[in-house]
Amino acid sequence: MQKLVVATGNPGKLNEMQEYLTGLPWELELKPKELDIEETGTTFVANARLKASEVAKALGKWSIADDSGLAVNALDGAPGLYSSRYGKTDEDRIGRLLRELGNTEDRKAKFICAIAIANHECKIDLQTECICAGEILTSPSGNGGFGYDPVFYVPGEDQTFAEMSPETKSRISHRGIAFAQLMPEFKKLTANRHG
Ligand code: IMP
Repeated sequence: MQKLVVATGNPGKLNEMQEYLTGLPWELELKPKELDIEETGTTFVANARLKASEVAKALGKWSIADDSGLAVNALDGAPGLYSSRYGKTDEDRIGRLLRELGNTEDRKAKFICAIAIANHECKIDLQTECICAGEILTSPSGNGGFGYDPVFYVPGEDQTFAEMSPETKSRISHRGIAFAQLMPEFKKLTANRHG
C-alpha cells in the first residue's frame, strides 16, 4: 500500500483526520515533528495547499493537509488564520476570545476548514473549503473535542462541539463536511491510480 502523510502536528485534528481516512487503500503516516511548515498563506486554502505540497516535496510521498480556524463576526473575522497562534494553550486562546468579545451581543461565528491533497510530485490534486456556522458562548461547556470546541455552540444541535459525540461533530463540522465532499473524489483518483 502506498503511503499518505497526514500533514498536521495538532493531535486533535490528527484524530479527526485519521477517522475520516480509515478504510482507504492508503497507509497513513504522520508528518515528522521536525518538518515544520510556516503558514505564510493569506487564505485557508493557500495554507492547506502550502502544507500539503511542502510535505510532499520534502518526503516524496502523497500528503493531505487541513488548514482551519474560527472566524468571529463581531471581531471582524478574528482569530481567523491566526486561530492557532491566538494564545499558547487552548485555555489561553479561549480566554482571550471571551475577553475580546466581552458582553457583545452578536455572538455569530463560523469554523472554516480547507483541505488539500498533494501527490508525490507535489502537484495539488484536490482541494476544498467548507464552513460550520455557530455562536460563541460566554463560558466553556463540555469536555470533548479540542481547541475552541467548548465555546462553539451549534443552535441546530443545541450543543457545543465539545458536548457532541464524535459522530455528531463529524457529521456537521467544517472538517467533517469538507472530508465528506473530498473523499469520493479521492477514492476515484485512488481507483484510477491503482487501476
Ligand atoms: P491550523 O489549521 O494548524 O492553523 O490550526 C487551526 C486552529 O483552529 C487550531 O489550533 C484550533 O485552535 C482551531 N480549530 C480548527 N478546527 C477546530 C475544531 O474543529 N475545533 C476547535 N478548534 C478548531
